[in-house]
Amino acid sequence: MTLAAGRPYLAIPGPSVIPDRVLRAMHRGSPNIYEGPLIELVAGLMPDLRLVAGTTGHVAIYIGNGHAGWEAANANLFNRGDRALVLAVGQFGLSWANSARAMGVEVEVMDFGKSSPVDMGRVEAALRADTGHRIKAVLTTQVDTASSIKTDIPSLRAAMDAAGHPALLAVDCIASLGCDEFRMDDWGVDVMVSACQKGLMTPPGLAFVWFSEAARLRCGRSDLATPYWAWGPRAEPEEFWQLWDGTAPTSHLYGLREALDMIAEEGLPQVWARHHTLARTVWAAFDAWGAGNPAIAMNVADPAHRGWSVTAARLGAPHATRLRDWCEKQAGVTLGIGLGMAPSTDPAYHGFLRVGHMGHVNAHMTLGALAVMEAGMIALDIPHGEGALSAAVRVIGTGA
Ligand SMILES: *Cc1c(COP(=O)(O)O)cnc(C)c1O
Repeated sequence: MTLAAGRPYLAIPGPSVIPDRVLRAMHRGSPNIYEGPLIELVAGLMPDLRLVAGTTGHVAIYIGNGHAGWEAANANLFNRGDRALVLAVGQFGLSWANSARAMGVEVEVMDFGKSSPVDMGRVEAALRADTGHRIKAVLTTQVDTASSIKTDIPSLRAAMDAAGHPALLAVDCIASLGCDEFRMDDWGVDVMVSACQKGLMTPPGLAFVWFSEAARLRCGRSDLATPYWAWGPRAEPEEFWQLWDGTAPTSHLYGLREALDMIAEEGLPQVWARHHTLARTVWAAFDAWGAGNPAIAMNVADPAHRGWSVTAARLGAPHATRLRDWCEKQAGVTLGIGLGMAPSTDPAYHGFLRVGHMGHVNAHMTLGALAVMEAGMIALDIPHGEGALSAAVRVIGTGA
């Protein structure tokens, strides 16, 4: 008997659950795109987008997904033949590197594997070795959604400064903005890329690039920045249409307005704290499951290097796929596939999964997902340690 009827829960690391408030805000006819309320709404969005990123710098909005955000950043950061240093701790760092390479950027990848964090000493050494300062920018993810590894951005900035290297620092916060603490200006980040469908709780369709005044001046007019991708007119438009290089993404803007209101009502530090607590709830459950069966383990051993919006884990093949299927069909909870850990044709692929806990998610959703996972382990005879749910409940109950 399936118990999946009722409201389903998409607990994958993006797109995230869309709040009813956001859906309702988007459900309207086309507004006037030349004058009136839409123009005022967009004027009000800009300061809130700066606030959520922790910057007084510029922001350019693109109609696109996260991949579009990468290309937008690449197009403005680099001229053809410029050099980039990419720090990869999972599939998403590698994919950003591929997009830059395909655009004609000379890319050097430092790959730290899929379960250990960026080694700041090695980054500093690589930058010191670049005596001619050919590297124009360092690209990295704050949280790589495939591995769930978090990169310590202030430490990275410190390593770049210690090396005395002038490269710009560009960070992909697609999985982490509005989930994990991020302070663009305080942390010395020059360029930041995000998208609206994860921590910002809006259906996929908007990408953002924030950039500092220093980055604007250093990048000038790149020969990769075709009219659609150039960030200048989007950030400082003379006319409304230049914000989008064409028609505005009208419904998305109403949705984003509502989502940013929700973040402001809760308060950004509280939003971060909620994600941190819910993440620790998930980690407590995995610790207990894994204590009874070493085949179950989170991908990242040290909690300090784990993102707060997604947890990547292994259950031993084929149990992760079996459990995902069971949770979706029997209980209405959809868990994320393992990404970049093994090719989908490899039997090992079926040993990995991810739990998304980003955006519009609260204690009962996270506890419910964990309880459903344990029910699935029991139903499927997947060996696991006892006490996961009481460990998870204790995190919520004590806040510790
Ligand atoms: C989701 C994600 C992307 C890709 O976003 P798409 O919208 O799927 O193109 C890139 N980087 C990170 C860190 C992500 O989480």
